[in-house]
Amino acid sequence: VIEIRDLHKSYGALEVLKGVDITAPRGHVVALIGSSGSGKSTLLRCCNLLEDSQQGEVLFEGEPVRWTGTGQARRPADRAQVTRIRTNLSMVFQQFNLWAHLTVLQNVMEAPVHVLGRPKAEVEAAARKYLDRVGIGDKADAWPAQLSGGQQQRAAIARALCMEPKAMLFDEPTSALDPELEQEVVRVIKSLADEGRTMVLVTHDMKMAADCADHVIFLHKGLIEEEGPPEQLFGQPRSERLRQFLSATM
Ligand code: ATP
Ligand code: MG
Repeated sequence: VIEIRDLHKSYGALEVLKGVDITAPRGHVVALIGSSGSGKSTLLRCCNLLEDSQQGEVLFEGEPVRWTGTGQARRPADRAQVTRIRTNLSMVFQQFNLWAHLTVLQNVMEAPVHVLGRPKAEVEAAARKYLDRVGIGDKADAWPAQLSGGQQQRAAIARALCMEPKAMLFDEPTSALDPELEQEVVRVIKSLADEGRTMVLVTHDMKMAADCADHVIFLHKGLIEEEGPPEQLFGQPRSERLRQFLSATM
């Protein structure tokens, strides 16, 4: 579904990604781990066209993304492609970013109705279904501020689901949460993985990575240092840097 080929990304003189290749096939969960500053969020932002790169390619369902213009005016060449990709790659951030002036239900309905132009009644039924799915069906009419952090994050996941995306990108979805609230979000993500959804999951939570992922990628200073199935990466890490990283985080 998502393919990244030889991606290089710099911010000025700072080279953040130095040639990264990632494929997330349909139904697979890829976990991205690595130290702070290793380029994990940058990689997700490139997938979602929030950032361009200097070299390499991002492909969505085999379709390469082309960019145009220079400097501040640099943008993806094809607006329709941007909408198609953002619709199909729903992103869930560390900070849930719910609209404070909309109820939970309205938050979930917003993009399908206003971006995709789907009929309101149909979207409302879907939104309620997804709120139930993440266990907060009773909070549909609450305001975001009335929810706990874990509930807000689950609302953000329902919002992403309501776009009916082909794949979901998660950037540290549990790291803003207290440990006891974290588990309720981990359970939701695990159940999405079990459903066979395609996901790229950036996380500091090695247990979540081990439980959810089919493939784990350890990013170190903008390069893939080691990758493989979770049993191998967590059970028999080959790289000394990965061993150090794991002993510091687990
Ligand atoms: P963390 O685990 O802390 O979230 P990360 O692996 O997600 O880290 P990134 O956010 O991808 O790391 O950042 C990689 C590097 O790029 C960092 O050194 C960061 O300071 C730099 N960086 C990120 N965004 C920008 C930006 N917009 N402008 C300049 N530098 C940036
Ligand atoms: Mg990050």
